[in-house]
Amino acid sequence: MFLTISTTGTPDRPATDLGFLLHKHPDKAQVFSTAQGKAHVLYPEADDQRCTAALLLEIDPVALVRKGKGKGRGGAPDAALAQYVNDRPYAASSLLAVALSTVFKSALRGVCTAKPELVGRKLPLTVEVPALPARGGAALVTKLFEPLGWTVTAEPVPLDAQFPDWGDSRYVRLVLEGEQVLAEALRHLYVLLPVLDDAKHYWVAPDEVDKLLRAGEGWLAEHPEHKLITSRYLSRRWSLTREAMDRLELVRLADLDDLAVEEVDNAVDETTDTEEKPVPLAVQRRDAIIEALKGAGAHRVLDLGCGQGQLVQALLKDVTFTEIVGVDVSMRALTIAARRLKLERMGERQASRVQLFQGSLAYTDKRLKGYDAAVLSEVIEHLDLPRLPALEYAVFGSARPATVLVTTPNVEYNVRWESLPAGHVRHGDHRFEWTREEFRMWAGQVAERHGYGVEFRPVGPDDPEVGPPTQMAVFTISSTTETTTAKGEKAA
Ligand code: SAH
Repeated sequence: MFLTISTTGTPDRPATDLGFLLHKHPDKAQVFSTAQGKAHVLYPEADDQRCTAALLLEIDPVALVRKGKGKGRGGAPDAALAQYVNDRPYAASSLLAVALSTVFKSALRGVCTAKPELVGRKLPLTVEVPALPARGGAALVTKLFEPLGWTVTAEPVPLDAQFPDWGDSRYVRLVLEGEQVLAEALRHLYVLLPVLDDAKHYWVAPDEVDKLLRAGEGWLAEHPEHKLITSRYLSRRWSLTREAMDRLELVRLADLDDLAVEEVDNAVDETTDTEEKPVPLAVQRRDAIIEALKGAGAHRVLDLGCGQGQLVQALLKDVTFTEIVGVDVSMRALTIAARRLKLERMGERQASRVQLFQGSLAYTDKRLKGYDAAVLSEVIEHLDLPRLPALEYAVFGSARPATVLVTTPNVEYNVRWESLPAGHVRHGDHRFEWTREEFRMWAGQVAERHGYGVEFRPVGPDDPEVGPPTQMAVFTISSTTETTTAKGEKAA
């Protein structure tokens, strides 16, 4: 099995720069041992105008079985034979993705010591994979690569050219063309080749979630097919898929149900997962927030740090909430939120209930005054600790809604995430994660400083030992006068 990556040069940039980026010299043919066989890297062409690197993977299917690395997930009756007679030597499968990540490790991480200035630069790239197993056919191949900026040619390969009646095989010849940063292009392939193959040849280990999130950084969250990609990549293991979704943070999906549908559709020749489909934590959190808002009798609500607008969308569906304002510092998140809510096409009545605007919670803002309630859902942990007093003052000192809901991860629960290495936070952008005790301390002090009462509620399964995955504080105002800042200065 093989793939080639080509680029063309310009007067100020020779095409052979590709060799620097890949950390493989164009003049040498090299061989690497990988867990599954031998990987060869060679350059069929390399001059200033054009440079092509080829990765050729020589698979040893028998050795794979002996080492026990070739086991599928189930115990299908023909599995024994399939382990020896299969398409692995030819088809660009997850094994190619593994080889890619072994042989081009630095390139994948975007490291280039010899010419660091090349790393972030977009190059005209052409990637060719002559035999790509594509479950979902050419149409799905296009749907996966096109949103990433590739021009896609995916030609179905006939089963046998001499017998056109036999129809097409499940393989396509893939050509991708586009101006891309090489490291990103490699990460697209690393994730999407196994997704298209859709039959991982090794057991999905819990650290696969980490690998997926790392390789998907910067593109997966916004990919229109992120659900399918995540679910397939993780071999449809529900607990892992849900966890990846939860940890992607910005991909809070109201409709993980679609995943279940895909799962059923595709469960033809695979051992079906017996794991029960749980309610995603993000959904449980949203439900808990809505319940608390109703309990507080809130009608006009601020969603502070609203992200991509999932909560705003849920609140809009409930007529109890007459005015909903989403605020976020990230313009990109707000753009996605506006798209999700279909703000442009919304009827006048509906539109009059909702507003999105950009703002930073580190500053007081007059526009935030006068609401019944404010929600800070999974927001505080995104601020550096020294910035928290500023947020505290902006919300509790200045805006002063009657009710404030704050949710944040309970770090004690992290040991229950199957795939989270010890000592890691759940999401790369979390500046801190608190224990229940730490959260209670902070919230208690905030309440006292600003004239609020506070109570705590678990969100998600309340583990007897480590507590719930999400913790929520419900603040209720007790005095209506403006308060002093954390530093004791008089409020403006
Ligand atoms: N509330 C959403 C999103 C949580 S992610 C949810 O529960 O799904 C955290 C969000 O806080 C991000 O969208 C981020 O842009 C926003 N954020 C971080 N710091 C902020 C600040 N200083 N002011 C406003 N929003 C901020």
